[in-house]
Amino acid sequence: MRTMRAARLHRPGEPLRVEEVEVPEPAEGEVLVEVRACGLCGTDLHLAVQGDLPVARTPITLGHEAAGVVARVGRGVRSPVEGDRVALFPAASCGECRFCRAGRESLCDRSKVYGMARDGALADYVAVPARSLVPLPATVPFDIGAIVTDGVATPFRALRARGRLRAGETVGVFGCGGLGTHAVQLARMMGAASVVAVDVDPRALERAARLGADLALSPGETDVAGEVRERLGGLDLALELVGRPETVELALRCTGKCGRTVLVGVGPGRPSLPPLAAFVGREQSVLGSFGMDRADIEDLYRLVEAGRLDLSGSISAKYSLEEADAALRRLAGKEGGIVRVVVEPHLARRGDEPAGGPIVSP
Ligand SMILES: [Zn+2]
Ligand SMILES: [Zn+2]
Repeated sequence: MRTMRAARLHRPGEPLRVEEVEVPEPAEGEVLVEVRACGLCGTDLHLAVQGDLPVARTPITLGHEAAGVVARVGRGVRSPVEGDRVALFPAASCGECRFCRAGRESLCDRSKVYGMARDGALADYVAVPARSLVPLPATVPFDIGAIVTDGVATPFRALRARGRLRAGETVGVFGCGGLGTHAVQLARMMGAASVVAVDVDPRALERAARLGADLALSPGETDVAGEVRERLGGLDLALELVGRPETVELALRCTGKCGRTVLVGVGPGRPSLPPLAAFVGREQSVLGSFGMDRADIEDLYRLVEAGRLDLSGSISAKYSLEEADAALRRLAGKEGGIVRVVVEPHLARRGDEPAGGPIVSP
């Protein structure tokens, strides 16, 4: 029996345990991927730190933002082939329901997110349906390839497909953690005339300003809606990435006539709409945006390859697989100072540095 290491969740909210488990056997139509990089995100924090998101079974291997190399293919798989560089679409979809057929795999009726509904990629290997894989160009490194699948593709879809951002418009990004930081960069790249970054963390605002936000505002210190209306006359597009009612309501107050507010953040709260006379009279819209499409990931790889999108500052720290839990706790503790942390299973555990010390500094 061949074994491998896997960072597994035994109970929601409990630390991950790195254990020796059997290397999964790729079933018919599946592929075994040797994981080279796996990013961590807010969803992982909900699972392993806050413990307020359900998992389909325990123990389960976490990790849904990954890239690697095809190690073996199961029966019936013609493509990809052994040795191919690939990234994982963050969920295994059925390929048959009407959302899959329309290219909307995130909305698949039988979607199984890695690390929530089936074993994920915080391990030496992960078995995935061949159709879950996205080819990773040779010039895109594994760590960048991994974070693009969710951390960059999620705000990209929100801006492009749901927000319908057009060049020359004004954009507000509410919440400048990992997704929001990328949203600022993407909005600039997509031709926004002004980008407004909103966050309570001064480090997140500094970073957003460095990456091209024209205004960086903290709701704790400034009348954000007043400032936005005075300077820009209201936003054309607002992206909410926090998932709190008060942030949604602030985003709505900042949008102008024909303004679209796209909600990406999720949480238990229930925001309220502005008075109907204002909302209807200004022809405002509120839209949800969930996950990404395969085309978003593929297009982002092309933009990275072409040098149009620079994600070199996005990886705040890298950790070995043994340090997966330390990496999660670091992400939980210093959200504002971090864009993305990545686990690279092949990294040796470091004996001479304190646990949790970053290999790459922000
Ligand atoms: Zn995620
Ligand atoms: Zn489906």
